[in-house]
Amino acid sequence: MARANATMQRLYIDADLTADAALPLDLKQTHYLRNVLRLEAGASLLLFNGRDGEWCAALERLNKKQAIVRLLEQTRPQDPQNDIWLLVAPVKKDRLDYLAQKATEMGVGRLQPVITQRTQGSKGGIKHDKLVANSIEAAEQCNIMCLPEITETQKLQTVLADFPADRQIVFCDEEADVSTGGTALAALRGAKLALLIGPEGGFDDSERALLLARDNVTRVSLGPRILRTDTAVVAALALVQSQIGDW
Ligand code: SAH
Repeated sequence: MARANATMQRLYIDADLTADAALPLDLKQTHYLRNVLRLEAGASLLLFNGRDGEWCAALERLNKKQAIVRLLEQTRPQDPQNDIWLLVAPVKKDRLDYLAQKATEMGVGRLQPVITQRTQGSKGGIKHDKLVANSIEAAEQCNIMCLPEITETQKLQTVLADFPADRQIVFCDEEADVSTGGTALAALRGAKLALLIGPEGGFDDSERALLLARDNVTRVSLGPRILRTDTAVVAALALVQSQIGDW
């Protein structure tokens, strides 16, 4: 892990990163550098875009209206994109922000909000750009090079209808017997994975039957206690990454 630059501010920027490029920052980033970090022109910072690795840059101009960064050199090569998908039923806004950050920190490559029978409130009302903003914040803070792809919210049935046949669904079922934990996962080592976590209300019987009828679904317990959706996301990712992932 390149910790050499741990003290320098890391910023995500959606622009191609090439040597000597002069890139304008958006107003929000300009304000943040100037008024929150109190940086001045000449300061150094690290930039990444999820495609071209991480680059050291100099703050060439910084005033109330504008910031220009000049790219100097690449400090880290681009990591390969993570491949774990997370299918998760939306929860209340603040916990969804938390969930987007933790999924990013724990190596999710695609975050797919899915509406299930018992999803509360925010049916379809997921603020996609808020999820993206939270994943960017987590990546900036945790030295992460890739951002998860965050898809539009879809019904679980729709997602399952055209789900790729080569990807295994790790169905985190609150009704699964505690014994179906790590052992069930061992059989999935090396497979493409999608973790499925339900809403605060859990999965209903019709969804459970639909899932268990599929041959690319592995039912997994996350222990003897019922976890909240956002807790279950962290627990499931910890279990998968430690048993068959990259921990
Ligand atoms: N309200 C439901 C629980 C829902 S918990 C009840 O009381 O039964 C929200 C989601 O987190 C569940 O749908 C499941 O995907 C996951 N989850 C929580 N605890 C779990 C456990 N012990 N084992 C497997 N999955 C769990």
